[in-house]
Amino acid sequence: MAEKIIPPPNLTSPQFKSLLAECVHCGLCLQACPTYTIFKKETDSPRGRIQLMQAASQGRIPLNGALQKHLSLCLACRSCETACPSGVKYGELYQTARSALEAARQPGMIERGIRWLALKQMMPHPGRLRFVAWWMILYERLGLQALVRRLNFLPKHLKNMEALLPALSASFPDYSKPAPAIGQKRGTVAFFYGCIQDAFLARVNTATIRVLQRNGYEVHFPTGQTCCGAAQLHAGEEELARQLARKNIDTFLISSPVENGGGTGGGYDAVVNNAGGCGAVLKEYAHLFEHDAAYADKARRFVSQVQDLSEFLVNHLNKPPQGKLPTRVTYSDSCHLRHGQKVVGQPRKLIKAIPGIQFVELETPDRCCGSAGVYNIVQADSANEILDLKMAEVAATGAEILVTTNTGCHLQLDYGARKAKLAPRVQVMHLAELLELSYRAEEER
Ligand code: SF4
Ligand code: SF4
Repeated sequence: MAEKIIPPPNLTSPQFKSLLAECVHCGLCLQACPTYTIFKKETDSPRGRIQLMQAASQGRIPLNGALQKHLSLCLACRSCETACPSGVKYGELYQTARSALEAARQPGMIERGIRWLALKQMMPHPGRLRFVAWWMILYERLGLQALVRRLNFLPKHLKNMEALLPALSASFPDYSKPAPAIGQKRGTVAFFYGCIQDAFLARVNTATIRVLQRNGYEVHFPTGQTCCGAAQLHAGEEELARQLARKNIDTFLISSPVENGGGTGGGYDAVVNNAGGCGAVLKEYAHLFEHDAAYADKARRFVSQVQDLSEFLVNHLNKPPQGKLPTRVTYSDSCHLRHGQKVVGQPRKLIKAIPGIQFVELETPDRCCGSAGVYNIVQADSANEILDLKMAEVAATGAEILVTTNTGCHLQLDYGARKAKLAPRVQVMHLAELLELSYRAEEER
């Protein structure tokens, strides 16, 4: 007789079941799903995955079979959420099922070691990541990178990771003191500088700070801030993500001029971040602590201040960029900015505010690029197929600049431009870098 399957409690909770029941299986989300586009299989569509979750919640299938396989292939891009007319919260369903899977899984020693190193020992420590970045700068500058790529001997996952390494900058922003406003001071913002972005795309943070300063903002860098917890949540390490979230909430609230009873008396105008994936998780802190008496209110107050750079700037562009950039530009939405945070028009409005730019939309700008946290490392084959579709769209626009608003997308698209031989004709840059280019063009006039 077959052994009875007992589903874990989070899959049988009334909340999870009512989220599942919202899906009417209409299939209107299928065409929006990148994995359905490449695999053409129901089980790799949002509807199919929801049905698998339903079957697991009713104990009809085990956790470690089809559910595990098809959820691992999901990018968690949440494109299906935007497409769904019934308002199904796929992101919440995915997160709950993913946590249940992780709790039930027994990862091997190597995987446990990598997780411990990446999620606990590296990402929460910006100083350690910068240390690694310095070694990577040497690796690039001494020609070792070219040699490693030519000899092609790295194991698959390491090779996938190495391929994503961008041209690194040896100059990092100074967070030891606030960056003063340039010209008339309009307010004070706190900057959430992230972990990977700070170490491996330092020039994006430099440009972000400069753009905020140019618009009249004094930029603070609260000491003690740490990784947002996105990668930990994605890996099903919810408790670790909560620990990081508590640290961020405390750091930003305690450093706030209002919370500590001093400063300008107005608090920060915003807690600004420049990575769609991080911002989406920072805004989810309220949800993460809704049942935590000590943190629920603090989390809500913190979240009310969090804004993506484009959200903030579109309303506070006190000094619009005036430098002419006579070039063709396209933009690839960050899934977590577009589908998670619903920030769609703001980056486009800012790009179009730059004189001389000819803006061209991609055919499907809202389609994931295949980055999705560590998806492009652990599921490199499907990530590459999705990336190839994206780069074909980029090539069709004839754009010379491809703008992004998220760290993972930036690394993936930069790799995609090299892989599709579009680079160096096509440059990948963050919105802040594009704005800064225009400001500098104005200064050099
Ligand atoms: S998730 Fe939404 S769009 Fe997709 S099948 Fe269910 S109800 Fe239809
Ligand atoms: S999150 Fe993205 S990849 Fe996953 S089911 Fe939804 S659309 Fe497809």
